[in-house]
Amino acid sequence: MTNAVEVAGLTVTYNGQPALTDVTFQAAAGEMIGIIGPNGAGKSTLMKAMLGMTKANRGTVRMLGSDVNQIRKRIAYVPQRSMIDFDFPVRVKDVVLMGSHPHLAWWKRPGKKEKAQALESLKEVGMEEYASRQIGELSGGQQQRVFLARALQQQGEILFLDEPFAGIDVSSERIIIELLRTLKQAGRTIFVVHHDLSKVEEYFDSILLLNQHLIGYGTKEDVFKPELLGRAYEGSIASVSGKDGEIVVMG
Ligand code: ADP
Ligand code: MG
Repeated sequence: MTNAVEVAGLTVTYNGQPALTDVTFQAAAGEMIGIIGPNGAGKSTLMKAMLGMTKANRGTVRMLGSDVNQIRKRIAYVPQRSMIDFDFPVRVKDVVLMGSHPHLAWWKRPGKKEKAQALESLKEVGMEEYASRQIGELSGGQQQRVFLARALQQQGEILFLDEPFAGIDVSSERIIIELLRTLKQAGRTIFVVHHDLSKVEEYFDSILLLNQHLIGYGTKEDVFKPELLGRAYEGSIASVSGKDGEIVVMG
């Protein structure tokens, strides 16, 4: 089986300061991968470098057997919510319609077909009743669902979501995780940056533990070892509850 994603030696520095150093891993199609690590670990940088949105100093990224620039249309990205300006006046349905653009010629505007599809995408996340509302009027969880609808509209084979569960309500989290599971079962490869360690086991097939370097990659059994968690979380305290009780790591 070919890998959906192959990352080799990926290195990013900002003004000479390393943010990501020599990260290498592969992911199979149809996997949901959690990117875990403390604040400032380089999780968002890894995503953006994989997508070619942040320039890598070194390393290669291949997705679906090609250079990322050649298959950009087959990828959907949901940025960290805190990076989006919600004062910008735009309606929910127009946010979702923006997802159609990779599939339209540059001179075309979304037409009937795309508009109908946008309502379908909103329905999938339970937000069709909010189609005409301003995005800024919604709660965090609702906004996140709208951005997931935009990703659905893009029909990406590989999905990247940066902290989709940060600061959202429980029912939005449920809706999002159920939808991601359905997409995964349909063969999509999904990367999710996840800030904390709770729910990791429940949500992800593989865990990528990051703190500038790749510290661990594999199943929970492979990665949730006190030594690896200690290295990732350094001074902070990581508390992990699982079937076998709770591991608390203090750096
Ligand atoms: P995470 O998403 O894990 O919290 P980031 O990838 O956002 O981490 O950031 C990793 C490191 O790179 C941090 O030290 C951050 O301050 C720095 N950084 C991120 N983006 C930039 C940028 N555009 N310019 C300069 N430094 C940045
Ligand atoms: Mg981040």
